[in-house]
Amino acid sequence: MSMTPVEIPEDAPYVNALLLQMLRGVEEVLGTHGLNAVLRSSGLERFIGNPPPNNLEHDVLAREYASLNAAIEDFTGRAGKGMLQRIGRASFRWGIKEQAAVMGLAGIALKALPQRLRMRAILLGLRKGLMDVVDYGLVDVQDKDGVLVYTDYACTICHTRHSDKPACHLYVGTLGEAMVFATGKDFRDFDISETHCKAMGDGFCRFEIRER
Ligand SMILES: [Zn+2]
Repeated sequence: MSMTPVEIPEDAPYVNALLLQMLRGVEEVLGTHGLNAVLRSSGLERFIGNPPPNNLEHDVLAREYASLNAAIEDFTGRAGKGMLQRIGRASFRWGIKEQAAVMGLAGIALKALPQRLRMRAILLGLRKGLMDVVDYGLVDVQDKDGVLVYTDYACTICHTRHSDKPACHLYVGTLGEAMVFATGKDFRDFDISETHCKAMGDGFCRFEIRER
């Protein structure tokens, strides 16, 4: 299946519930002071002590969500990549507990499916969740010769950003924790790499997921 790249308007809105999920992850990993610091440096001080509601309204822009990702990388310096992956994992865990219905993932891990199909089912659940709640969301999931390929044509983590390296470390963490959720294994049992990134000028952000 091939898809046309999605043109996301510079001022595209983003969903409160997904920002909230990220803020909970940031708070777990960086603490409240760290959270407040990156909210301030990304121009999102309106959310300090005042997180967005857990709903599907839009009180934030996609590019503000991307700025927050960039601010965390600046704040944590050389540790930024690992820190963002940890935040992505923490966000997914919080989302599963508090937003399973929103994210369309309720019950998937409990299904009596072989592990490989559960891994794919979780990715399809994430795909559906994102495409249901984000107007311009477009995600594709393929199983290619034992590699799960997850492609986001409308990634918001790097919206309007520019980088010479893949920038969506938060996404790598989220997908890793999704694999943990699907299999009960450790996130280190999976090798996840971002092979294309919109921040590098590619038409999509693509992640390849392999079992080690
Ligand atoms: Zn990317």
